Amino acid sequence: MQFQFSTAPKIIFGPGTAKAIPDHVSRMGRRACLVTGSRPEQFQWLMDSLEHNGFQLQLIFVKGEPDTVFISECAAKARSQSCDMVIAIGGGSVLDAGKALAALLTNSRDVLDYLEVVGKGLPLENRPAPLIAVPTTSGTGSEVTSNAVLLSPEHGVKISMRSTDMIPDLAIVDPELTLSMPPNVTAATGLDALTQLMEAFVSRFASPITSPLCREGLSHIARALRTAYTDGADIEARSSMSLASLLSGIVLANARLGAVHGFAAPIGGQFHAPHGNVCAALLPQVMRTNIRALSERAPESPALEAYAETARILTGNSSATTADGIDWVMEICSDLQIPGLAAMGITDKDFPELAEKAARASSMKGNPIELTQAELIKILRRSY
Ligand code: NAD
Repeated sequence: MQFQFSTAPKIIFGPGTAKAIPDHVSRMGRRACLVTGSRPEQFQWLMDSLEHNGFQLQLIFVKGEPDTVFISECAAKARSQSCDMVIAIGGGSVLDAGKALAALLTNSRDVLDYLEVVGKGLPLENRPAPLIAVPTTSGTGSEVTSNAVLLSPEHGVKISMRSTDMIPDLAIVDPELTLSMPPNVTAATGLDALTQLMEAFVSRFASPITSPLCREGLSHIARALRTAYTDGADIEARSSMSLASLLSGIVLANARLGAVHGFAAPIGGQFHAPHGNVCAALLPQVMRTNIRALSERAPESPALEAYAETARILTGNSSATTADGIDWVMEICSDLQIPGLAAMGITDKDFPELAEKAARASSMKGNPIELTQAELIKILRRSY
């Protein structure tokens, strides 16, 4: 048995904890790059408080999922303003932009030099600037992961900058910030967290540290996702989902992911669909294909028992089978109105290229069994 485990040095969790952000940042820098989403007015209180405490702020607004061109421009701006730290508050797109910026503040090569798979994949020369990550969605867990996902427009793929040094120095997870998520964002992000927990649980890199965290996260999803979707004001459900999301980030950073995320990289690069919806549309058929391939080619794999345990946790039924687990996921995707791949603009002509790119994606490395091109294409066809 061999494994490594890294996470954020400090995690603060609980309703209301975001109010204390200014207290936590005071010793981290003076010229902060504050990264937020398309509704920055909701964080006016934070800007006022930071300025009142003597911080100079460079504001960066992230619209949609960040791409390499946008990040390079923002990094140049932040460097010219001599920013010495980054505070990112928003969904996964904002947190990833903040993580890439913190790294590029102290590492001045072209962003493509650091990108894996399509870039040179060079290691960072210097530690990133101090970074505080505060999620407002409950799905990506990016506040504790070591990568920033960026769209590379020239390669038509979403790809990561990755380094354990990029794990935020402080993650503040305040479920109150997620109360304003509309049902469609609650659904997409919640199903992203479910996918991350499941892929890490069955991953070939699962460890005795990550697996108990996966079980805990899955049980929160089973309890809370439907309630968070139907009653967004339920703070208990929101807290459960924020915790599940945080745990999903911790496990993915250490146990990696699988075929769903292998596909999400090229699909997200070529089609405009929320990341969580892409994952949810693929999850049942990836489960089905992995379980069949494992049963036929690797029946001793511990991933089969992890899939069976997932089914028991999700259904709450101690005799549930892997097939019941797939049914549970299909039912929740249908109830939460997740569209199939066809609605995202994907056609069967796209299948061979998507399957080929997915096979090369870094996320595919944790899949519990190597899937053939025919199996990958079958997943796409059945997720239509
Ligand atoms: P997102 O950040 O793109 O946000 C989705 C939408 O929700 C946006 O319109 C945003 O403005 C809005 N929103 C965010 N918080 C809100 C709130 N509290 N109330 C109302 N609206 C709100 O979505 P996401 O799913 O959080 O992040 C997706 C991105 O994260 C993708 O690019 C994905 O690849 C990436 N990701 C990264 C990691 C990682 O470890 N780095 C893991 C998973 C996903």
